[in-house]
Order: sequence, then C-alpha cells, then structure tokens
Amino acid sequence: MALGTTQARAQTPGTTAPPLAQRGLPSLGDAGMMTPLEERKLGDSIIRDLYRDPDYIDDPVVGEYVDGIWQALLKGARARGELPEELEERYAWEVLLGRDRSINAFALPGGYFGLHLGLVGVVSTRDELASVLAHEMSHITQRHIARMISQQSRQTPLMMAAMIVGMLAASKNPQAGTALAVGGQAAIIQAQLNYSRDMEREADRIGYGVLEQAGFAPRGFTGMFEKLQSASRLSDNGDWPYLRSHPLTTQRIADMQQRQRSQGLNPAAPVSADLQALLIGARSRVLGRPGVDVLRAWAAEPDGAGFAAQPLPKRAASLYAAALAHAQLRDLPRAQGLATQLALAVAGDMFAARQARLLQAELALQAGQAARVLTLLPASSQPPASPDGKGQAGRPELLLRAAALTQVGQANEAASSLQPWVSDRPRDASAWQALAAAYGAQEQVLRALRAEGEARVAQRELAGAVDRFRAAQDYSRKNPGGNADLIEASIIDARLRETQAALAQQRQDEAKR
Ligand SMILES: [Zn+2]
Repeated sequence: MALGTTQARAQTPGTTAPPLAQRGLPSLGDAGMMTPLEERKLGDSIIRDLYRDPDYIDDPVVGEYVDGIWQALLKGARARGELPEELEERYAWEVLLGRDRSINAFALPGGYFGLHLGLVGVVSTRDELASVLAHEMSHITQRHIARMISQQSRQTPLMMAAMIVGMLAASKNPQAGTALAVGGQAAIIQAQLNYSRDMEREADRIGYGVLEQAGFAPRGFTGMFEKLQSASRLSDNGDWPYLRSHPLTTQRIADMQQRQRSQGLNPAAPVSADLQALLIGARSRVLGRPGVDVLRAWAAEPDGAGFAAQPLPKRAASLYAAALAHAQLRDLPRAQGLATQLALAVAGDMFAARQARLLQAELALQAGQAARVLTLLPASSQPPASPDGKGQAGRPELLLRAAALTQVGQANEAASSLQPWVSDRPRDASAWQALAAAYGAQEQVLRALRAEGEARVAQRELAGAVDRFRAAQDYSRKNPGGNADLIEASIIDARLRETQAALAQQRQDEAKR
C-alpha cells in the first residue's frame, strides 16, 4: 500500500478509546460487524486524505483502461450473485490510481480500491491486471475488511481508519524502512491488517469465477502469479509491497493451476501479446516518476542499434515510452515524431491504434496545436455516453476535445459535450474543471464559478467548494441577469447550503478523531 503521504495519526494500539457513543461514532452492527453504510463512511474519511495526496493521479487514459476492466468484473460479479444489492448501493466501487512505482493494489473500506501505476506497468495483458482486480474485488464483496475490523474488537473504526492511513504512509518509501514512517508501529499495523490465509484463498477462488464470467482469460491469474513468483526470488523486492500483503504460497499456486486443469485449460499455455496493455504499461511506467536519468534512457531507446529488428510488441511499448518521456523532458517535436512512428507501427491493431492517436492528440495539445487535436479526434471519435451514465469509456477523447475546442473559440461546443457527462457523473472533477474553463471562455461567470465549486466538491475539498459557491452568489447579487441566471442562482443557493452542511459535519467528525 502506498497511496498516501498523509502523516499517520495512529494511536498506540491498546490505548483505551472513549466509548463509541461518546465519540459520536456509528455503533457496530448486531454481529459486531460494521454495516455497509458505516464502512462506506469510514472509507470516505480515508479517501478525503488520499485525494489531497499529490501522489493521487487522475490520468484519463490509464483510468479509463482500468475502469473498463473494473466495470466488466462488476458485471461478472453481479451475474454470479457475488454482488449483494446492498453492497452495490452503499459502496463507492471506485478505483483510485496512485502515482507510485511500487507494485501494489489494495481494497479499502467502503468499496474503494487503490492501484499503483507500478503494478499497471508490469502486467503484459489485460487478463493479468483483471486477475488482481478480481481478487481484490472479492475481498470487497466478501466483506473481508469489515470482518477484519470486527475481529479487532479493541479497535474503534476511526482508529482503524487512522491505522490504514498510517499504513498507506508507511509503505510509501520501502527503502526508508516502514518502521520510520509511523514511529515503529508499522509491523503491528501490518499484522493487524493482513487478511487471513482463508480470506486470501476465498478471494482467489471467487475472483477466479468472476474473472472468467467477465470474459477474461483464466490464464491471467497464473500469468500474474508467475510475475510475483519471479519477483519474490529477487534479493531486493522492496518495490513489491503487493507480494508482502499477498505471499505467494505453493498452495495458492497449486489451487489456481488445479482450477484451470479441471476446465481442460493449460495453466502454462503461452500468452499472445496484448498491444494495448503494453502501451498502457509503458505510459504507467513513465507517469510513475522514474527520475530524469531513467526517462532519458527510455527516450533514447528507439535510437539504439537493432531497434527496428525487435518484435512489434517490444518496439511499440518502447516507442510509447520514448514519446512520453521526451514530452516530460520538454522535447515536444521529438515526442511527436515518435508518436507518429508508433501510430504507423500499430495501425493494424484497433485498440493500440486508438491509444497511439490519443497520445498524438495529448502531445498536440501540449504543443499548443489545438486544431490538430480536433483533426486527430473528430467529433465522431467520441463514443456516445453510455446509457447507464456510468463508466469512463470515451473520457480521454471527451477531455482532450473539450480543451481543444475551448482553445479554438468553440467553447460552446465544449460545454455542450461536457454537460451531459457531468450530470451523469457528478464526481468527475476534471470534467467539471473543463466545463468551468469552457464557461469562462464564454464569459458565463456564474456558471463557471458553479462548475469550479462542483469540481472542488468532487475532489472532497468542501471548504474550497463553499468559497466558489459563495463567490457565485455574490456575483449573481451584483449582476442580476435574465431567467436562466435566476435558475442558476437558485441552484447555487441550494448547493451552497448542502455543501456548508456537509462541511460542518466533516469538521465535527474530524474534531472527534
Ligand atoms: Zn488478497
């Protein structure tokens, strides 16, 4: 785990905490287990810290890719009856990406799930990443966290929250030694938060069924196990916290191979290259802040002798990494040249070709070539919003196009593409921010201020949101407009009251910690 830099607030385990009621905490359920709603509140309080963490990253490309797998698995879990309605309703089912090179993935209370770019960077197929997600999703659907918390009867939920945040911080820098980060308590916390062996086996078993139901190759599990196994042989595997929380026992491996053999599958069958997964992996490695020297080495790779003779998957991943590395090293012309080379190389693979085009558009936007973005991503390239208004499919195109449209003086079109999206997905802070920019460009001050406020709400920055909504209210008092503005003003009044109430509640909760 390492999505957080937030300082640990863990108390000494065993310290007598005030009774629950006195602390205004939700009481535990009948069987001593938290209700899903209580667990969600606990998760929300952890997430507030994570969103403020500079290592939390909203990358539309990696985010959409991971979310696509996540949504498919949710559907699979639902179809297999592994997703009780109450959990589906109460939990967040949200994936948070951590800009961290270490290989890690973890479920958090309330249906949140943390995934490090480092892990996305080492998988070679969609199925392998899906196997990790399916396993962690099964920890969530089986309520393993709530079961663990209830087993720690001496710990209050908020103390548990503090411990989890502490542990996230502790694993941040494996080289520095986890003990330093939380004052010597990391080992104790680790021991208390690890799932039992039975829970791990249950997550493997249920995860396997969900993975298969969702249409992924069961080989993904064994492929991932092989990666973990070879990493565990390294003398220094400090970059693999996932291996510490998920020891790869011979039993787990044998169970997984047996599952496949019983279906007539060969657990050691060769896996064909998944170009898109390799490109997303390359992107994740570059975004994971590998340092300037590594970026330079990656940027130079396509210039190496024998590069052209390498197999396509290897070449494509190198070109992607080199292009993005050059962009980070501020050499956009070189980055764009390599992205064009990539686009030609992967033209035969629909999914990889789209990734290459998105990269070209991203680099064009960075180079200030908004018109080129719109040529690369015409309106028809933007998939229509999904009917259930969920998921992130098409989000990279939406955000890139909106930014480009706003720059070329078509902010009106940008706003009308973003409006339905945010009304279906009000937690999309970046889309709200893009909408604020589009309104701002049209001098629609009131709407721009409100969109800025909604972006802050989505980022769980309630104080900032109140500030924006207040500014909007002031503006509308000083500049009374027509009917449309009146309606907007009354929405803003209501949003201000709601956000103030939520902020007051949050401060009350925090004062009790
Ligand atoms: Zn597990």
